[in-house]
This record gives sequence, C-alpha cells and structure tokens, in this order.
Amino acid sequence: MAWKLLSLSALTTKSPKVTSFEIPTCLFLKFIKHLCSSSVLNLGHVVSLDHGLNLDSFYASLIDNSTHKRHLDQIHNQLIVSGLKHNGFLITKLVNGSSNLGHICYARKLFDEFSHPDVFLWNAIIRGYSRSNLFRNTIEMYGLMRREGVDPDGFTFPYVLKACTELLDFRLSCLVHGQVIRYGFGPDVFVQNGLVAMYAKCGNIGMARVVFDGLNDRTVVSWTSIISGYAQNGEALEALRLFNQMRNTDVKLDWIALVSIVRAYGDVDDLEQGRSLHGCIIKMGFEDEPDLLISLTAFYAKCGQVIVARSFFDQMKTSSVIMWNAMISGYAKNGHAEEAVDLFREMITRNIKPDSVTVRSAALASAQVGSLKLAQWMDDYVSKSEYASDIFVNTALIDMYAKCGNVESARIVFDRASEKDVIMWSAMIMGYGLHGQGWEAINLYHAMRQAGVCPNDVTFIGLLTACNHSGLVREGWELFHCMRGFGIEPRNEHYSCVVDLLGRAGYLDQAYDFIMKMSIEPGVSVWGALLSACKIHRHVTLGEYAAKKLFSLDPYNTGHYVQLSNLYASSRLWDHVAHVRVLMREKGLSKDLGYSVIEINGKLQVFHVGDKSHPRSDEIYNEIQRLERRLKEIGFVPHTESVLHDLNYEEKEENLNIHSERIAVAYGLISTAPGTILRITKNLRACVNCHSAIKLISKLVEREIIVRDANRFHHFKDGLCSCGDYW
Ligand code: ZN
Ligand code: ZN
Repeated sequence: MAWKLLSLSALTTKSPKVTSFEIPTCLFLKFIKHLCSSSVLNLGHVVSLDHGLNLDSFYASLIDNSTHKRHLDQIHNQLIVSGLKHNGFLITKLVNGSSNLGHICYARKLFDEFSHPDVFLWNAIIRGYSRSNLFRNTIEMYGLMRREGVDPDGFTFPYVLKACTELLDFRLSCLVHGQVIRYGFGPDVFVQNGLVAMYAKCGNIGMARVVFDGLNDRTVVSWTSIISGYAQNGEALEALRLFNQMRNTDVKLDWIALVSIVRAYGDVDDLEQGRSLHGCIIKMGFEDEPDLLISLTAFYAKCGQVIVARSFFDQMKTSSVIMWNAMISGYAKNGHAEEAVDLFREMITRNIKPDSVTVRSAALASAQVGSLKLAQWMDDYVSKSEYASDIFVNTALIDMYAKCGNVESARIVFDRASEKDVIMWSAMIMGYGLHGQGWEAINLYHAMRQAGVCPNDVTFIGLLTACNHSGLVREGWELFHCMRGFGIEPRNEHYSCVVDLLGRAGYLDQAYDFIMKMSIEPGVSVWGALLSACKIHRHVTLGEYAAKKLFSLDPYNTGHYVQLSNLYASSRLWDHVAHVRVLMREKGLSKDLGYSVIEINGKLQVFHVGDKSHPRSDEIYNEIQRLERRLKEIGFVPHTESVLHDLNYEEKEENLNIHSERIAVAYGLISTAPGTILRITKNLRACVNCHSAIKLISKLVEREIIVRDANRFHHFKDGLCSCGDYW
C-alpha cells in the first residue's frame, strides 16, 4: 500500500504547492514523526488539500507519533475544524494517546466532550485511569459505563479487575467476577489471569485456585499470580509445589515469577533449594534485576545468612525501603539485634523514610537488645513520627518495653494508644505474664472483655503464662476451661502452661492425668513442663518418663538432658547425674555457656562466668567479696551441693559466687548512683544459689534488681523476688 501525500512545502508553508506523489508506508511514518517534532506543523493544509488521503489513518498515525500534549491538542483542534470531532475511532485514539503521555485529566476532558461514547472509548478511559494508578476512578468509570447501558467487553475486564486487586476490595471483586461470567468472558485468558491475581491479592487464595484450576491456557502470568498468591498468603509450601509443577510445563520463567518463588523459599527456610534457584537466576541472566536482588537479600536474611544478605545489600546501595526492611528484619530475626538497630539508625540519618514494617522490626530488635535506653529512644522516635498511632507499631513498642524489663512503660504506651485490637491487648497481657503480675493480667483481660474485644489463642497464652508465673492455679485452670467457649482449640502451648501450673504447685499426678487426656498429641513443651515440675518436687520416676518422651521427640536439645540431670542432682542421685553427662558426651552435646548483660548509661556490658576481662575487674571482685562477707553476716548459706552438679549453670567449685549475673550485679553497684535500678539479662535460667543471693543483696544495698533469665523476669526488691521463688 502506498500513501498519497503532498510535498513537504505544502505542509509547512502558508501557500502550498499542490503536488501529490506516492510514498511507501514506512517513509510516511517517518515523515509523520518529523512533522510531530516540528513546531511549524500546519495540519490544515494537509487535510484540506488532498481528499484522496485516508484521514482516519493519517490522524491515527499522527496521534501514535505524538510526543507532547500540544500535538494532541493541535490534532484535536484540527478534528473539530474538519468536522471530525464525532469520529469515535479518532477520539478513542486521542484519549489513549493522552493517558499514555500521562495526561489523564486531558483524556477525561476529551472523553466528556464526546456524546454517546461506545465501548472502545469507555475502555480507553477505564484503561487510562487504571494505568495512571487511579483505581477508584477506574471503578467509577466502569460503573458509569454500565449505568449508560454500554456492555463491557474482553478489554474492559482486565483493567477493572486490576483496579479491584489494587483496591483490595473483595466484595467488589466478587461483583465484577459475577459480571465477567454474565457477559460471557469467563473463558478469556486475560480476564482469567486478572481474576486469579485479584483473588490472590485480596487474600482469597481458595477462589484464586478455583479460577486457576479452570484455566485451559495457563500463561506465565497466570502461574506467577497463583504462585505469588500462595507465597503472599503464607502458604509457601503450596507456592513451591506449584512452581515445580510449572517447571514441568513449557511455560518460560520470567523474573517476576522468580521474585515470588525466591520469597517462598525464604518463608519455608529452605536454604538449599533457594541457593540452587539463585544459580538458575544467574544462568538465566536475571541477577541484575533489582526486584529479584531485593527478594534474594530477603531470602538470605530470612535463612539466617545475614552476611550474604548484607553483601547484596551493600552492592545495591539502594534507598528502596523494601531492601532496608529485608536487611533489618533479617538481622532482627536472626539474633543480630544490634546490627538491626544500627542499620535502622543509619537509615534515619540517611533520610530514608522507614515504613511501619521497618519501625516494627527495629522495635523487635530493640526488645532483643534489652536496653531500656534504646527502648526509650525508639519510643521517642515513634511518638514524633507518623506511626505514633499505628496499631502494629504500638503493639511492637509494648512488647519491646515488656521485654526490656519495664512493664510500666509498656502500659503507658498501651494506655495512650487510641486504637486497640486483640493483638495489642494480648501483648500487654503477655507483658504482665512475663513479669509475673498475674492479677494485673487477669484484670486487663476483664477490661478487654468489657471493651467488647474477643480474646484469641494468644490472649490465653498470655493469661496462662501470667497465672503460671504467679502461681494462680485456680484462675489459670478456669481460664483454660473457658477457651473453648470462644471457639479456641487449645494448642500445645496452652496445654504446657496448664501442666506447668499444676506441676509447679505440686499437683504432679493431676498434671500427668491432664496430659493423658489431651485432645492432641503432647509435644515437647508439654513434656518439658512436666519434667521441670518433677525437678522442683524431686519426683524422679515421673521425671524420667517425661525425659524419655523428650529424648525421642527432640533428641539433640541439650536443655532436656540438663533438666534430667538437675532432677537427679536435686535428689542427690550423683551416679545418675554422671550417667547423663556420659549420655550427652556420646551425643556430642555440650551445654550452653552462660553470660549476663548489664546496661550502664546506655552501654551494654557482657560478663561470662568468672570474667576478669573488664578494666575495672579489681573493683568488681572487691565488691563481690564485700557482698559475700555481708551475706555471710546475715546468715546466708550457699546451696553448694545442688549447684555443683547442676549442669544448667556455669559452675566451678571455687566460682560459686561468680556466676555471670553476680559479676553484673557487682559491676552495676559500683557504676551507678545509690538507688538506681539494675537491669540484667541472662541467657540461661538463674540458679537457686544466685537467686537467693540476689534477693538478699537487693535488701542489703537497698536496690531494685531486675534480672531477665531464659524464662522470665525476676524483680528483686527488699529481699524478695516477684517470682515468689517460682521459676
Ligand atoms: Zn548462679
Ligand atoms: Zn525470681
């Protein structure tokens, strides 16, 4: 086909020569491009001079090649002059052209000026809004179109579905799905892909799967939607199963699909598979794709490979908040709390805006660091930020304060939060539980019920823990039995709280009967609770039974051996103690080394057993000896024997008094003003000897000493501990 066209001079001068000649299409298009970039274009001449020209095609080409709004404006004016303003085809082209150039308002103006738009023009404006990320307007236009009695077609639905997806509006999604079926576009592959993505993103993965399973022609887009749907809905295993299924088809993988799959491997903590996929990614040449790099960073961070993750992170040098989140939460979740906090501070100094996820990860990390000063800094940061009323962030702050040993500050955050959901109430209840404030927890639970909030399974874990740490047997028992009334099936965590509660109070037989009547298979935590109760009450036969169960369920956990050995030690069965040591050696298990951390003026100081590395070591040991003398004066007798054989503790015969927490206490006393509260964190459980000693020390020096051990908080004050010697 050839185009009849005027000479160039005819187009650009006021008095054109009327010459026409034929040129091939490709040349014509080049010519149009040239016209569009020249500002002297005078379209009037083109169209009025040669009526042989196909005007629709001519204008269409002009619109397609327009690069500025003023071109479109000029063309539109020309259409009006030439009486073509009712040409639906060209107006549709113009609307599409304007929205492509980012002028959606201009597109809308053109649309509004056109009377009785057909489906093509409606589609153009719907598509325009959708591509401009104005999803409410997309839906609004779709509604208008239907009210005008124009039926949607296969090109309408993908954009409408995309809008539903982005708006996460499930009700609307169902409505549109119904219309898809009514108008007979059920089998359209684009529409179907849109449906899969929509349901998956709205969190209804079941519906997404139904549509996906009904697809006859699955493209990489459909696979990606369903796989990422499962990944995002926390069903990583199903995502990976589908991924393997996809690999058996001839659908070609793209990097968008890989982003979700890498993420899924991170969620299931499958380092090996993820690594081999990383190899494939390199082979396929996608390793520079930024989104993939972010998901690889998150993957390695989640799998605990923080060094690898950090190298990706450093390579990228990006200000993408997702990347920072991946790294910060990776650090926080893998016990590198200080790195997480450092990175968070760096992010703030670099003026990269954290989002709610970042702030939550940073609060989680601060809780792990256990520094109250840091916790206060976080709180300060949040209250000045836009997240001050973010319900998730506030919940993280409550948890953080509780774990940093300051349940009062946790309560302040709780009280000031304007919006409270069951998770926040539960976090506060859990905080009281951790600190052995059973009644506070129960009172808060009643307040929560009064506020009309329905408890969930976590609320009950908090309550049972609280009762447990306060020895409230009857209350705990009653609470456990009202769980089912809220439709909550107890899990192992709930059962083990009850076993602990009964066991510690000495109702060992009842605890055993309770386990036997459980509606689920008793797990490690349940038998562990029974074993530790047996240790307290020196019930060797039942303890051995529990230990046997534990060794078969969880053979490589040092803790169980230690507990059994402690049970024997408490009953003075030294041969048995020795036997457990042999067992452990055979299995290649060694006990964890104990250490304690104390915060002085915002600086954390770590002490190991018998630690003499501190520059003020001499002063510390003088203080220890001074305290020791004073303890003896008031009649303190060390629990030498049990401690000596107690595998849980960092014992050495001559080192009884220098367990790490004792060094931390001494250092705290010489480094702070009288009356200052000492806050110590210990990685293992506190031993009986240290517990009794610190109780008395708190009275001798008139200080409050707060020790967080592996299990709970001990608030030592006036010679007593908040745990009531019950830990
Ligand atoms: Zn100790
Ligand atoms: Zn205590």
